[in-house]
Amino acid sequence: MPRSSLRHQFFNYINGCAFAALSMFNLMAFADPKNQTVDLSSVAQNIKILASDAFEGRGPLTQGEQLTIEYLAQQYKKLGLKGANPNSVGSSPLGQYFQAVPIAQIIPDQNMKLVIGDLSFTSGKDFTARTEHINNQITLNDSSLVFVGYGINAPEYQWNDYADIDVIGKTVIVLVNDPGFATQNPEIFTGNAMTYYGRWTYKYEEAARQGAKAVLVVHETAPAAYPWSVVESSNTGSKYTLVDSQQNTSKLPIMGWLKLAATEQIFKQSGLNYQELKQRALQADFKPVRLKQSANLTLKNIISHAISHNVIAKIEGNTYPNEYVLAGAHWDHFGTKKTSKGSIVYNGAVDNASGTAGTLEMARILMAKHKIKPFERSILFINFTAEETGLIGSEQFSKGDIIPTKNMVALVNIDGMNVLDKVDYILQYGDGLSEMEGYLARATLAQQRRVKLDPRPQNGLFFRSDHFSLAKQGVPSLLFMSLGDTDPEYIANKYHKAEDDFSPTWSLGGVEQDIELMVDIIQTLTNSRDWPKWKMDSDFKTSREADLSK
Ligand SMILES: [Zn+2]
Repeated sequence: MPRSSLRHQFFNYINGCAFAALSMFNLMAFADPKNQTVDLSSVAQNIKILASDAFEGRGPLTQGEQLTIEYLAQQYKKLGLKGANPNSVGSSPLGQYFQAVPIAQIIPDQNMKLVIGDLSFTSGKDFTARTEHINNQITLNDSSLVFVGYGINAPEYQWNDYADIDVIGKTVIVLVNDPGFATQNPEIFTGNAMTYYGRWTYKYEEAARQGAKAVLVVHETAPAAYPWSVVESSNTGSKYTLVDSQQNTSKLPIMGWLKLAATEQIFKQSGLNYQELKQRALQADFKPVRLKQSANLTLKNIISHAISHNVIAKIEGNTYPNEYVLAGAHWDHFGTKKTSKGSIVYNGAVDNASGTAGTLEMARILMAKHKIKPFERSILFINFTAEETGLIGSEQFSKGDIIPTKNMVALVNIDGMNVLDKVDYILQYGDGLSEMEGYLARATLAQQRRVKLDPRPQNGLFFRSDHFSLAKQGVPSLLFMSLGDTDPEYIANKYHKAEDDFSPTWSLGGVEQDIELMVDIIQTLTNSRDWPKWKMDSDFKTSREADLSK
């Protein structure tokens, strides 16, 4: 044997000993029970940093984004997690911890008129119109108008408002919410609790599938759950959208809202009675009604492009590394807004610096457990960008470019933690949706707590955070959103306001018990062969079954 080879072996032996000693030291450090329980000082520190003015309110595409994503990637790296992107993003040494999210900013020109017959409507005052197409100008040229009732196609409720009509190229007028809410009858859809069929996002998606050119959702305050001023402010200014390889042409070209008074005028001019047709739309055998007039509109847009980032890190499973249990929380908030009185920083301490700090803390605890006894499946931690502007980061991730959705076992998503004292319950959003509810029930019972159903199911919160992007692709998920319930004052005075700041007086008792709960659920799933299923017949269930059979 040549000398050099012997020497090589010797060095390997020495290195091996050093490595063994080091791992023993690590093992002892990780075995310290403190590492497997929640460290509240570390959570507080992370919330304080992420919600500090230095991070500028964590606005996507700002300096605040750069600071936030680098901070998160560094923390995951320090904890020993690997970046989950096989391809490095940009020139950063932390590039494997990022996923690029291509975003367009679209600003619709508000000097537009919606002309229907002899009627002419003003943008913002009577209607709103915007697009997610990457297109500087979209026009409606004598587009036929059709009233499609609730505009719902839901086989599981034996309901299809589009059954007998072709709406290709047409403009559809549609009611907001669903017939269950309108009747408050629990036998119809889910009664007061909103189904996804009630969300305006669904109305646009279904109309796009049917080939419509434009949708006008009729605004009524009760079923929409907010006044016209909210529709106006959130639809007439600059909006961000994810950009796909087809420039978003599969989406609905024109996404609009119509004020109630304008709707009644339009129907009247067609010799129809809106209120009467609205009643008829509550019947499953309702047939769409063609209006006499057609719609005309020119929507002009100013468009610019930029790249935002999700942060992704993983603990690799020993036995089934390609099967992932996911823990997520959006990192973004509203950034800094300039006003006449100066700049206001929207620090978003609870929403969602708390959830982001929660994912970091779970990564620390689960990594310590993994070092003692390796997990079978992998765990992926993801901090989504641009949640507040429309679940954009999660939509990009749900395309499955980095991990196919069929390899995702389930997702636990945090959006706002209970930073106050412990409570004897945990909120469950949605009911009878997936077998993840069984995992939640078991882990809650282990803490001697109880599962409490969302007391405001009419708000449809299950459809309004990032886990929903994954659910649409079939991945079963749980939403953890606590503070609105434990502290009503938060919703009234701080939610989405500049007052959502860190406070050293928080006990963080709720954070402690909820992190323990989520760690329990994740740990159970990582050492299981179970693939939790959707319970109810739904689009989620259909997508999952199709995905898993690929
Ligand atoms: Zn949030």
